[in-house]
Amino acid sequence: MSPFPTSTVLGYPRIGPRRELKRALESYWDGRSGRAELERAGAEIRERTWRRLAELGLEGLPSNTFSLYDHVLDTAVLLGAVPERYRAAEDPYFAMARGTDGLAPLRMTKWFDTNYHYIVPEIGPETVFKLDASKPLAEVREARALGYETRPVVVGPVTFLLLAGAPERLDDVLGCYEELLAALAAEGVAWVQLDEPALVGDRTPEELEAVRGAYDRLGSVTARPGLFVASYFGDLGPALPVLAATPVEAIGVDLVRGGGVPDLPGKTVVAGVVSGRDVWRTAPERALAALGAVRAGRVTVSTSCSLLHVPYDVDAEPDLDPGLRARLAFAEQKVAEVVALARSDFQGPVPAAPSVPLTSPAAPEERAPYAVRAAAQAAHLGLPPLPITTIGSFPQTGELRAARAAVANGTLSEDDYERRVEAEIERVVRVQERLGLDVLVHGEPERNDMVQYFAEHLDGFAVTRNGWVQSYGSRCTRPPILHGDVSRPGPITVRWASYAQSLTDKPVKGMLTGPVTIVAWSFVRDDLPLRDVVFQVADAVREEVRDLEAAGLSIIQVDEPALRELLPLRRAAQADYLEWAVAAYRRATSGAADRTQIHTHLCYSDADQILAAIDGLDADVTTIESARSGARILGAVSAFGRGLGPGVYDIHSPRVPGADEVEDLLRRTLEALPAERVWVNPDCGLKTRTYEQVESSLAHVVEATRRLRAEL
Ligand code: GLN
Ligand code: ZN
Repeated sequence: MSPFPTSTVLGYPRIGPRRELKRALESYWDGRSGRAELERAGAEIRERTWRRLAELGLEGLPSNTFSLYDHVLDTAVLLGAVPERYRAAEDPYFAMARGTDGLAPLRMTKWFDTNYHYIVPEIGPETVFKLDASKPLAEVREARALGYETRPVVVGPVTFLLLAGAPERLDDVLGCYEELLAALAAEGVAWVQLDEPALVGDRTPEELEAVRGAYDRLGSVTARPGLFVASYFGDLGPALPVLAATPVEAIGVDLVRGGGVPDLPGKTVVAGVVSGRDVWRTAPERALAALGAVRAGRVTVSTSCSLLHVPYDVDAEPDLDPGLRARLAFAEQKVAEVVALARSDFQGPVPAAPSVPLTSPAAPEERAPYAVRAAAQAAHLGLPPLPITTIGSFPQTGELRAARAAVANGTLSEDDYERRVEAEIERVVRVQERLGLDVLVHGEPERNDMVQYFAEHLDGFAVTRNGWVQSYGSRCTRPPILHGDVSRPGPITVRWASYAQSLTDKPVKGMLTGPVTIVAWSFVRDDLPLRDVVFQVADAVREEVRDLEAAGLSIIQVDEPALRELLPLRRAAQADYLEWAVAAYRRATSGAADRTQIHTHLCYSDADQILAAIDGLDADVTTIESARSGARILGAVSAFGRGLGPGVYDIHSPRVPGADEVEDLLRRTLEALPAERVWVNPDCGLKTRTYEQVESSLAHVVEATRRLRAEL
């Protein structure tokens, strides 16, 4: 077996440095281009990646880290796990990812504690696994034609099945993995990377036994590549000795988040010392100390996880303050760090951390009990039963985005831009009035993004120009960089919210992003405890809540869709996190008067895991994703005893739900909840949809709600 290369990365961004994949996908989906053009765009991104990694001096190049939508979905396809109903679709892959007119997509949820979303494979007793290795093989050949030998990366069998909720099918998928190993060996592939991030979570003795069995079995395939099992996002803990006892030749450990590495005689340790989760330059003494602690036959320098979670290149950010830039490393810079560490000529400057005052926030005053608030709000708002609302954003039109770009490059004046935003707010208000919604929103036309917008208006943050990171499919975000102490120089959203309120007699809901979410979707300074950073942001949000209320807004929504995302993967650390996260939210919202109604919104939250915490937010109304995750959530949250708006349709799909379908869902909701607590709303913001889709969908929602109101 050839030795494992001395430097590698576990994966690389794949959206393209200028989001080329996004454009190619959207053009293909809109029918403006064909499959061949899409494939060509993918091939260009892969080629550029391999060339760049090789140029930077990286030895171990990965392949099959590219995906047209999602690598978990790719793994499902690799294993033949395509549910029957999608097989006849024109494009089964994208039908699973996004749905079609007649077909809902597969469920999507967050990848561990990141803001990347994967498609949840659907595996039932009827699923017949059958290997289709065409994609990894094609990438190996494609790279080879360019002169590069690569290591295919595939989600490992244990993680794949745990994510799919079907661990009992392990024996069945292992047959496919055995065949895959044989096929790769026949292709002359030296090493394969099987990603097993699920092993850094709490695993039962049975699950660890399954790991042992799986890798003993894969290890005994006679003609196979070297087996590299990669873990990341934490410490392997008890899974490490289990893996070490199997025939796998290389084990990847996250030395940024995880602990030390015990002796692994005879194995290669792929040491993740360069963080794939942040944008800070690696402190050399820390990395070298971590590498020095690895006592093993061989050590490879690597990233702590795939670089999928960071932007491409700091050099594409000329606007950043030079002092900050000097502290930053994106994917390209991180690869260079890996190479330098492997050559032991690492000389990165130690990042200069700003000096930091210690915050010890005093407990803020609490709001009155819910019953008192509810009475005050009912009297103040006078809403009909089953009030209909939306989650905040309305379609972000191309004109608006163009106008923002024009302001940025100086061809549109700030005043003209503001008038366009006002015109859009007026349009959104009129649409909602015409449709018959009860609680209106201003539509968020001034926001490029629910976190970036606040980051742009708070001190202590920087925003990037090209720092895109894939969120799901073609969707990318530009996480702001929280690099210093956070404070609010002045009101942020008040003028837009009060403008909307001035246009209508219906209540308008002010719209803010919660402190945990602002921090979760940013790259955060690592010189302060996360809790202290979140509390600083909470204080800024609190000031905004007070100003909205003073400006006459009676309802304020503080979104916290990322509450679940920061939950530590190991149970032992979760209670502490949830306690301070909830405290931060209450700190942000508890300045509101009793008659001011606080809403919160969560999506893809796997709410069942953090129910007590969501309850602890003590919001008067909680709107939550449920269209995709189904009735499961409903039963679980019905115990809150406060207002609840389970999403009545999935906004992530272009599909327009019928009134009957919405009525059905509402009926089921009313079986689980008393009518006086039920709100009616889509399951998330509408900004990725078109006005046409939104208006038809909401018209059906209103129609369904009216039918049910008539029965109350
Ligand atoms: N208010 C935000 C919106 O409607 C919420 C988005 C979210 O939950 N992700 O866009
Ligand atoms: Zn949402």
